[in-house]
Amino acid sequence: MPENTAQASNEALLDIQDLSIHYITEDGTVRAVNNLNLSLKRGETIGLVGETGAGKTTTALGIMRLVPDPPGKIVGGRINFAGEDLTQKSDAAMRNVRGKRISMIFQDPMTSLNPVIPVRDQIAEVILLHEKVSAAEALAKAEEMLLKVGIRSERAREYPHQFSGGMRQRVVIAIALACNPELLISDEPTTALDVTIQAQVLELMKNLKREFNTSMIMITHDLGIVADICDKVAIMYAGSVVEIGDKYDLFRNPKHPYTIGLFNSLPDIEKDEDSLKPIKGFMPDPMDLPSGCPFHPRCDVAKPICMQAAPSEYVNVSENHRVKCLLFSDTTGGE
Ligand code: SF4
Repeated sequence: MPENTAQASNEALLDIQDLSIHYITEDGTVRAVNNLNLSLKRGETIGLVGETGAGKTTTALGIMRLVPDPPGKIVGGRINFAGEDLTQKSDAAMRNVRGKRISMIFQDPMTSLNPVIPVRDQIAEVILLHEKVSAAEALAKAEEMLLKVGIRSERAREYPHQFSGGMRQRVVIAIALACNPELLISDEPTTALDVTIQAQVLELMKNLKREFNTSMIMITHDLGIVADICDKVAIMYAGSVVEIGDKYDLFRNPKHPYTIGLFNSLPDIEKDEDSLKPIKGFMPDPMDLPSGCPFHPRCDVAKPICMQAAPSEYVNVSENHRVKCLLFSDTTGGE
C-alpha cells in the first residue's frame, strides 16, 4: 500500500475538468493546456510527468490563477478545489487562497525569496498575512517552521544569500507550509540542486507531507522521483493528461504508447546501452499541434485514424487507472 494512502480520504480535494489554457500572441495561439482532467484526494500526492513543453507548469499556474493575463487565458474548464470553482473566483478571493490554502514551490528558490529580508521574517510575513496572530507569535511560528525543515534558530535571522541552494529550498518549503495549506504544488523543486541535496530535500518533503497530511502535486520529468514520493501519476503530453493512475498500477502496466516510450527511455543498469530506446522526435509546437492525436507523428503503433481523430475519452484500464488513446477505444475500426 502506498504510504500516504492510509491518510488519504475518499473526498476529492482537487478536481480539474476539461481545463484549457491558451496564450494569445501576435504570432498565433499557443495551446499550452488542452482539455486537461485531473483529480486528487485529500492527503494524496500526484506526480505530473512529461517532457518540457507538455504544459505542466502552465497547469500549476492555472490552479494558482497565476497565468500571466495577457497573453494567457483560461479559455475553458473548471478547477474545483474543495467544492469551489477557482476559475470563477475574484482576484481578491484568490489572494486568500494562495499561500494559505494552496502553496507553490518553484524550481529556483531565489525567485521566491526576498534577498534583503532575513528568512525568519519572510516566513512570519506569510503567517501574518493569513492568520490572526501577533507579530511575536508569527516570528515564533516562523522559527518553529525553520526547525522543522532542519534550520537551527541561530540562523533564523540570516539572509537568503547566506544559505546554500539546498538550505534556501528548505526555507522556501518552510514558507510554503507555514499556513498548513491543503494543497502544495512543487514545480521541479530539486532540479537546481545536486544529487545528494536533492535526495535530502525530497526526504524532507515526504516527511513534512506526512506530518501535515498535505495533498501534493509534484511536477517532474523524473519517474524516479514519482516512484519515490507519489501515490498517483499523471502523464502529460501536448497539454493533456494521456494516462493517469495509481503509481503501482501504472508503473507495472503502462498502456499509452507515450508512457511506454518514457519507460523504455530510462537507463537500466542490468541491460546494455543498446536497450535504451529514446522516443523518436520532439514534443510538438503548442502553436502548431498536429491533426488528430498530437502524439501520432512519434507513435510507433499509430493507426490511420490517429491522424484525423484525437482521442477524447478516457478508457478504464482498472479501477484506478485510465488511458486516453484510440487503441483502447472502439474507434480504430479494427485497423
Ligand atoms: Fe498512438 Fe493513436 Fe494512441 Fe495517439 S491515439 S497514442 S497515435 S495509437
